[in-house]
Amino acid sequence: MDIFKEIEFKNHEQVVFCSDKQSKLRAIIAIHNTTLGPALGGTRMWTYPSEQEALIDVLRLSRGMTYKAAVTGLNLGGGKAVIIGDPNKDKTQELFRAYGRFVNGLGGRYITAEDVGTSVQDMEWVHMETKYVTGIDHSTHNGGDPSPVTALGVFYGMKACMKELTGNDSLNGRKIAVQGAGHVASYVCDHLAKEGAKIIVTDIYEHKAKAVIEKTKAMYVRPDEIYDLEADVFCPCALGGILNDETIPRLRVSVIAGGANNQLADENKHGQMLIKHGILYAPDYVINAGGLISVANELDGNSRESAFKQAEGIYDTILKIFSLAKKQNIPTYEASNRLAEERLATVTRRHSLSAGKSKRGET
Ligand code: NAD
Repeated sequence: MDIFKEIEFKNHEQVVFCSDKQSKLRAIIAIHNTTLGPALGGTRMWTYPSEQEALIDVLRLSRGMTYKAAVTGLNLGGGKAVIIGDPNKDKTQELFRAYGRFVNGLGGRYITAEDVGTSVQDMEWVHMETKYVTGIDHSTHNGGDPSPVTALGVFYGMKACMKELTGNDSLNGRKIAVQGAGHVASYVCDHLAKEGAKIIVTDIYEHKAKAVIEKTKAMYVRPDEIYDLEADVFCPCALGGILNDETIPRLRVSVIAGGANNQLADENKHGQMLIKHGILYAPDYVINAGGLISVANELDGNSRESAFKQAEGIYDTILKIFSLAKKQNIPTYEASNRLAEERLATVTRRHSLSAGKSKRGET
């Protein structure tokens, strides 16, 4: 594999391959862009079928983090890491400590947190070797599980979609189809229930859906039926790639607003397809930025309340994106990419201006 020619590698600042024989660690840390600040992004542990797939995943995910931080107004860069291994079998303290030493070696250019396949416990082990880690235990620090903050952002983002569509942001009486009944979905459903929405939920594990149903009086459908429901909003809170050639033509909703990452299987193709189907799409990395907001506040030593307050701001960001999309006649995902790129370009320009000044001895 020709790594430097790897298309997704384009524009990454640094990619670090980590190997530790004793703990059997094989990890890749990708730093996409540090223009706005240190690269922050979680560590994913997954049974990647090949090293190439692990590399492509980390390169895509780290680029996404740059855009998420930029459009959310955070002073953070984009980074992500993957550990190649089975999260159900291969986790040891030794492995995460070895990984923590690699993170530490980057001297703060990359700060990590949990992601798919890693937990608060794993980050506590990483924390034994480095201070460059967030999302650690709530009782001893001011952070912990970011899901409640993510969920609040999704809820406010969904309200913004309703405002855009109807002029009224209330979700009372609206029918919301929620895919997944995990951490984020369960908190989203709490907010929806309080607002008086009609919730329909699914999960591949029925017991998880049941737990949500008991709390919120939601209705249950089987996992594949969620795409065929007539509803106001489809709220994907499970895995990525679920908006694709097969599912989009089946959707009978007006809005897609959910917490899952990488919802569009192909950003361009499926973003356009949603427009053709008359569906308003809240770009995933914008509406689910509450998780990043949570860890950013933890890093700054702010309270949880401050993170929740900031997550409410996702409402305005989503409306700003819709307004730009209309003005420039572009899809909403493209409008959010443009906003992110504009912010990065402004800061880059400022950097080069001050570098020019210091070369000339000015301050
Ligand atoms: P989670 O593992 O707690 O929940 C995911 C749920 O989806 C699980 O219950 C799983 O059984 C279910 N699921 C998987 N495939 C499904 C399918 N095909 N149909 C129905 N259910 C299915 O994860 P989470 O932390 O709630 O995260 C959910 C999504 O939100 C992920 O895409 C994650 O990357 C994204 N996200 C999470 C956060 C956060 O703060 N946790 C932040 C940003 C983005």
